[in-house]
Amino acid sequence: MPSILQVALDTPLYRLFDYRLPDTFGTVPPGSLVEVPFGRTRQVGVALGALADSAIQDNKLRDVVRVLDDRPALSPDILRLAQFCADYYHHPLGAILLATLPPRLKNTTPFVADTPWLLLTESGRIAELPARAKAQRALLDALRVAPQSRETVRAQKQGRHASALVVAGWAVWSRVAPEPADAPATTTAPPATAGQQAALDALLPALGAFGVHLIHGVTGSGKTELYLRLIDAVLATNRQALVLIPEIALTPQLEQHFRRRFPGRRFATLHSGLGEKDRTENWLAAPDCDVLLGTRLSVFAPLPRLGLIVVDEEHDASFKQQDGLRYSARDVAIARGKQANVAVLLGSATPSLESYAHALAGRYQLIELTQRAVSQAELPAIELADLKHLPLDNGLTRPAVQALAETLARGEQGLVFLNRRGYAPALYCPSCAWVSPCPRCSARLVLHRTSHRLKCHHCGFETRIPPECPSCGNPDLKALGQGTQRLEETLSALLPTARIRRIDRDTMRPRAWAELGAAVHGGEIDILVGTQMLAKGHDFPNMTLALILDTDGALYSPDFRATERLFAQLMQVAGRAGRADKPGRVLIQTAFPDHPLFRYLQRHDYAGYARTLLAERKQLELPPYSRQVLLRAEASTMDAALAFLHRAAQLAPDDANVSVFGATPAPMARVANLERAQLLIQSSQRQALQAFVRDWRPQLDTIKPRIARWSLDVDPLVF
Ligand code: ADP
Ligand code: ZN
Ligand code: ZN
Repeated sequence: MPSILQVALDTPLYRLFDYRLPDTFGTVPPGSLVEVPFGRTRQVGVALGALADSAIQDNKLRDVVRVLDDRPALSPDILRLAQFCADYYHHPLGAILLATLPPRLKNTTPFVADTPWLLLTESGRIAELPARAKAQRALLDALRVAPQSRETVRAQKQGRHASALVVAGWAVWSRVAPEPADAPATTTAPPATAGQQAALDALLPALGAFGVHLIHGVTGSGKTELYLRLIDAVLATNRQALVLIPEIALTPQLEQHFRRRFPGRRFATLHSGLGEKDRTENWLAAPDCDVLLGTRLSVFAPLPRLGLIVVDEEHDASFKQQDGLRYSARDVAIARGKQANVAVLLGSATPSLESYAHALAGRYQLIELTQRAVSQAELPAIELADLKHLPLDNGLTRPAVQALAETLARGEQGLVFLNRRGYAPALYCPSCAWVSPCPRCSARLVLHRTSHRLKCHHCGFETRIPPECPSCGNPDLKALGQGTQRLEETLSALLPTARIRRIDRDTMRPRAWAELGAAVHGGEIDILVGTQMLAKGHDFPNMTLALILDTDGALYSPDFRATERLFAQLMQVAGRAGRADKPGRVLIQTAFPDHPLFRYLQRHDYAGYARTLLAERKQLELPPYSRQVLLRAEASTMDAALAFLHRAAQLAPDDANVSVFGATPAPMARVANLERAQLLIQSSQRQALQAFVRDWRPQLDTIKPRIARWSLDVDPLVF
């Protein structure tokens, strides 16, 4: 009697699929990857439960094609984490499970993993071999000194002996080699600062069990150093550490820094910058590694000996995925920590208000590092250049240019921050006021002069720069406003001898960071110009000036998180100035110098500003004092998108604890030829909101006419 296998597939449907499991397959443990027919194609699915019977008619049931034993099964803890995400984010389980896999393993073609290293296991360390097993002993002895590569083993004709050791459990073929134990001297930990020691005293005893610990430490206070020590303690108990970092913070320097600190340990990275092959190999290596350093997707990596999770820069928006499963890797990390009963460390100089409120309420342990680790390093002085009184010349005030010139004259370096890439935010016709619209979005095409293109930063549309105004034929088109390319040009003209380097998504390839770091450290660069990419995790001791241009938009944005984000960003940029023994200086150009944000910023008073913002949020019942879910709808017309949402609101369950707001066009109403609208649901009670959405979601499937796309965004960050 054939049994039935329930299989999760990557579909938008909230259900599992039944397949007949031929007897010859034996039992298939949950988590196993299987190949099944689906429509006219074959798909990789995840086996879940086995049933004796199916509700599907016998003649409609199809057979499992094969069990993919060329790749590991998803472990029970990953299945559990995916189930948490399915419940919490109201997303189909199959889509989540398949999203946790690297792309290559979702493919049915056979996969041969690359395992180039033979490593000693714990039991191999103490194994005793009889004297007559000479060759095996020689190999075992060699392994006790260093891992052996497959080539060496082959060249020395030790293949048979290697297999014997593997069978005995004394050695394993692995995808990762440990870091060489004879690593350079930079690996030793400096003596802990008083702040770090107090943090260690509080955290070391807490490592054995679940708890969330928020490390609020000013930039340069030695948070990274603190993580390294705690990771060390976890590795000493033969457990693994997962370190999550923001998308653009994973630089080769950081990776090197981590690797060097753990000689003899196995290290893996996971991020979207890796090619498909590397990503797959590293994912496969994760179970064997000691430290996994990666971006948000690593939160789903297989780590059977997980002992600690660190989320660095926990406030960073890149931890939230903005499509598909719209999860927050920080929040999933906490869920995972809870399931695995391990400690979760959240670190930031400017914690998210969500995390900070938890800490103030005592739900998270709050650890504060108030001093910079290097004692001479003072926090920079922050000055404002008042744009109401100072004229702008190509986006720069006189004091700004002067400050740069003085810094360079002292042989020091400066950075200029402008969060807008391209040459100018738009191309403008002075005669008819045409302002380069994107034909597919409610946005302007950005002028990129180096590539001679107009580009939409929202949908990817691009076109060549028109020789004349498409609307009136005027040949005299002007660049409107400033982007980083234009700023670079302006600065070159003002400071012709300065060596300037621009950093933004147009110039930076992942590998370019190492070269950039070396160039800045080596004094080959005087001025860095760039977007927020500049602000992340770099430590340049001779960088003593930070100029910040044009961030006023955020001060009066309708987005209630805009000031929180701006404050974090400014603190971070300011943190780049004066990190070593030289005092730093920050100059911000603004037309609103009286805005309270600047008062707190000048005092480096995160806590004060956070409390002010939290008080506002509380009064307005905004997160973290309420929970939100956003229903997003996209359709070919705005009317259709709004009609869908009106219907959705009518179908909403009746619950006095949950507010359903009116349907509105999204702030960016049109992207890639689709009109977008949204409906906000809010409640002060998380459970009530969850129950509400659980009842509501199936109703949304029934709404006619269908629209292009809709999705639920739980805990939305951008609207
Ligand atoms: P954060 O992550 O908080 O910005 P880092 O860990 O990067 O801070 O430390 C900032 C600088 O201080 C680094 O150059 C680091 O090497 C140094 N540092 C950290 N801890 C110590 C310490 N205990 N003694 C001396 N220097 C330290
Ligand atoms: Zn015109
Ligand atoms: Zn567009």
